[in-house]
Amino acid sequence: MAENMDAKIVIIGCGIAGIAAAQRLIESGFTNVRILEATGRSGGRIKSSRLGNAVIEIGAAFIHGPSEKNPVFCLARDYDLLDPKALTPENQAVDVDEGPPQVPNWFTSSGQKVSPETVEPALELFYKLLDSTPQSKSHKQGSLPSVGDFIKSEVLKRTAKKWKNKDKSSRRLLLGAINTLLKEECYSSATHSMDELDLVGFSMYQSIKGVDCTFPSGTESLISSLMSELPADLVSYSRPVRCIHWSNSESGVNAVTVECEDGERISADHVIVTVSLGYLKKHNSTLFSPALPDQKLQSIQKIGFGTCDKILVEFESPWWDADCEIIYLVWDDEEDISDHVSDISKNWIRKISSFTVVTPSERGNHVLCGWISGHEAEHMETLPEEEVRRCITELIHAFTGDHTITPKTIVCTRWFHDPWTLGSYCHPAIGCSAQDFKNMMEPLPKRGKKQPLQVLFAGEATHPFYYSSLHGALLSGRREADRLISHYS
Ligand SMILES: Cc1cc2nc3c(=O)[nH]c(=O)nc-3n(C[C@H](O)[C@H](O)[C@H](O)COP(=O)(O)OP(=O)(O)OC[C@H]3O[C@@H](n4cnc5c(N)ncnc54)[C@H](O)[C@@H]3O)c2cc1C
Repeated sequence: MAENMDAKIVIIGCGIAGIAAAQRLIESGFTNVRILEATGRSGGRIKSSRLGNAVIEIGAAFIHGPSEKNPVFCLARDYDLLDPKALTPENQAVDVDEGPPQVPNWFTSSGQKVSPETVEPALELFYKLLDSTPQSKSHKQGSLPSVGDFIKSEVLKRTAKKWKNKDKSSRRLLLGAINTLLKEECYSSATHSMDELDLVGFSMYQSIKGVDCTFPSGTESLISSLMSELPADLVSYSRPVRCIHWSNSESGVNAVTVECEDGERISADHVIVTVSLGYLKKHNSTLFSPALPDQKLQSIQKIGFGTCDKILVEFESPWWDADCEIIYLVWDDEEDISDHVSDISKNWIRKISSFTVVTPSERGNHVLCGWISGHEAEHMETLPEEEVRRCITELIHAFTGDHTITPKTIVCTRWFHDPWTLGSYCHPAIGCSAQDFKNMMEPLPKRGKKQPLQVLFAGEATHPFYYSSLHGALLSGRREADRLISHYS
């Protein structure tokens, strides 16, 4: 049991990491816990909305690996927030890498709908290569530094013979499908290009069993459920923090002083920082006084933080098959294997590789979610919604050959321009290793100092193998709460 239950603990950020930390501390008997949140809401990168009657997700949509090992799944199940299918033992037992593929529709930029069988050789090769990256440690260090380099060189090598006898247009279609899958991976990793992902670092992420599921009433229902069990005055909203003064004598008894944008100064024994890596990259020099140690600064720079956005589009009626779950777009005029475009302002739309069907048609809504990442996404964010709608309409006309299809409503996310997030989530950029994630979670000051654990670090980008996910963020919050709990034990 903790000896000093009235230790003053300030948590910065009311996303899932901050909420999980607060919940754990309060459950353990700490009475002096407070969250400072820059915006007027809880949830951070968890944000649900509506388009027509459909629930849409501006931020996180899926529980990746919904099974016992995933604490987000366990909470959602206990709060009764999931569909019965997600709760079945069968669903929980599926190994994601061998899970049932989504039912696809494939369209090409020349307006053809092609059968999944036609593109199967591209999928087979692509996923085989992606799965073999962990073994690529055996590759000569530096010769193929990135996942993109590895995939591109292997595709060229292996298809030179294998696809030699195919005619030119079939080969183009298959290589175009490889580009589509590369762009899809860019989205999953929130990176501009797979060329920016460390080949060895790529295998640090660990998946959990279970076929991804969503929250029928929106991921934000998890936040509401969690918040309803916490004290009503726990969070101070619209209270951005300007600077954390640590390791100084300014505050007398308390080791840390938190200076808010509005000038308020709050003294604390411990501060748990949960702001995004994007925010740390941009603001670390003003957010901490004294500055962060070099080792942490280097890791903040080395771990990548990229953008992925969604373009949610509502239609009067579906133009995809009734059982379709994902629509893939293949540009059949692309010469090279590449996952990013040249001349972004002109060609940004080419980065959209797929649309997922948000709501099954039987529910009466026809909403698709288009995925876009990298600098193309960042450019899209600068355009007026009408311009995005025009480009999406043209895209769909070209790929379906049907010029009567018109989007009804459209919603674009803008995570790169969100001043409190500055991107979407982290990825292992070239040169980044497990040590960088360890450095991220290291509390300040270093062990041995008089007043330990002044500043602790949680948040998605501090989890060594579940980074970029909801469960990684949640576990990181619990981890830092536990660190304080054992400190006082
Ligand atoms: C588009 C998108 C799709 C995603 N899809 C999925 C998915 O399907 N499945 C999945 O598992 N994960 C997904 N993720 C990732 C997931 O959303 C995050 O990993 C997780 O929500 C991060 O939680 P966090 O608490 O670490 O950070 P955040 O949610 O970012 O919380 C940090 C909080 O700090 C606040 N803050 C920032 N600066 C200050 C300041 N100076 N003072 C006070 N407060 C401040 C912010 O406003 C924010 O509320 C997605 C993310 C995005 C953006």
